[in-house]
Amino acid sequence: MPIILPPATLGMLGGGQLGRFFVAAAHEMGYRVWVLDPDPHSPAGRIADRHLVTPYDDYAALDQLAQSCAAVSTEFENVPAGTLDYLDKFVVVRPSASAVSVCQNRIAEKRFLRDNGLPHGPYLEVLGENDLARADADLFPAILKVARFGYDGKGQALVSSRDEALAAFVRFKSESCVLEKKLSLAGEVSVVLARDKHGVCCPFPTAFNTHRQGILDVSRIPAPISDTLCEQAATLAGTVASCLAYTGVLAVEFFVVDDQLLINEMAPRPHNSGHYTLDACTYSQFEQQVRALCGLPLGQAQAHSAAVMVNLLGELWYRNPHNVKAAQRFVPHPALAASEGTGSSGQYTPPPGAPGSATAVSGAHYHEPDWTVLHAIPGLKLHLYGKHHARPGRKMGHFTVVDSDPERALRNALAARRAMGIDDAAS
Ligand code: ADP
Ligand code: MG
Repeated sequence: MPIILPPATLGMLGGGQLGRFFVAAAHEMGYRVWVLDPDPHSPAGRIADRHLVTPYDDYAALDQLAQSCAAVSTEFENVPAGTLDYLDKFVVVRPSASAVSVCQNRIAEKRFLRDNGLPHGPYLEVLGENDLARADADLFPAILKVARFGYDGKGQALVSSRDEALAAFVRFKSESCVLEKKLSLAGEVSVVLARDKHGVCCPFPTAFNTHRQGILDVSRIPAPISDTLCEQAATLAGTVASCLAYTGVLAVEFFVVDDQLLINEMAPRPHNSGHYTLDACTYSQFEQQVRALCGLPLGQAQAHSAAVMVNLLGELWYRNPHNVKAAQRFVPHPALAASEGTGSSGQYTPPPGAPGSATAVSGAHYHEPDWTVLHAIPGLKLHLYGKHHARPGRKMGHFTVVDSDPERALRNALAARRAMGIDDAAS
């Protein structure tokens, strides 16, 4: 396939913040971008050259996308595999439907790791209640995770016995699940890499990640772990990509357990823990995504500074803690919320508290945070995703502090976080 050059049009399935950064990178490079996302307010749709506001399985819209775009990628792993398969008949699709289908289902993902001899923690496939009855007592305490549509810690339950696992399985409407042993983590790291169509692989520096309530909170480079572990993570991520015959940007999340790396999960797209590349690298993960999609040579993946990235969640918009609790009650079940603001029907539903929402939070004290506080911090770059409404737990933006000195970057990032009223207590 020839190299795709501007002013060609590229297609993006999914209109969240990852798609928005892709659109921005592609625009910078001279491409046009069409976005397909059922949410009329999607952050990427708002800045795309054209936004197809349709479900992912609207084949008439897919035909339009295939006719107008030179290549199509995805920012959202839950795009139906059938959609990618269909597009693949008419247009370049990267990553492939088969790679995405492994990453979008925890059972397929675990089998892939097992079959390729890649390190992972103990787990059990749960397709029905009988599987749980046979669960090894050594697996507990464990985490039951729905096989599909989980994100940001949603669709997961910590369980200490077979009975609790069974109750959680029933709560998840008996969807296929994996039951994972709860590991004692020394830390979590991730590698975002780009791989081109010839198999050339460019891993970004390994990021060290901390989470709150299952949601990424802070990512930093260099990771405060040994160089050997950082290199092992990059090598393992490269092996995952080559076993998937991957072209595009791939993220691999790892647990660090007793100085060993275990692969937690993969994402067939840029990743929140790679956002630091926007400010600390010459070529961001999104520019690499454009390059891999278009068949251009990949850029170097080194960072020119240390960086600390902090996520900004919707809580910040609700200053009164009572209101945060009230709003949380209305977060939809993960299996129903395949993408933010979008129900399984593909119909847009206004989020809680938004005008027109059936579940408006009464008395919510909702207002825009004071961003001047952040702009005063040296080396801090603020990114807001243009989401039309905040709700607790929703990723609304992030900031990255870059600095030649990793300690100073961390100090300034934590100071910025506190100045915004985000407390330090991990949960
Ligand atoms: P998500 O798709 O929501 O990112 P993950 O499987 O990565 O789902 O889980 C989210 C977070 O929950 C992880 O980053 C980790 O902090 C914690 N976690 C998940 N699985 C385990 C496990 N088996 N043992 C210990 N902690 C876990
Ligand atoms: Mg994860």
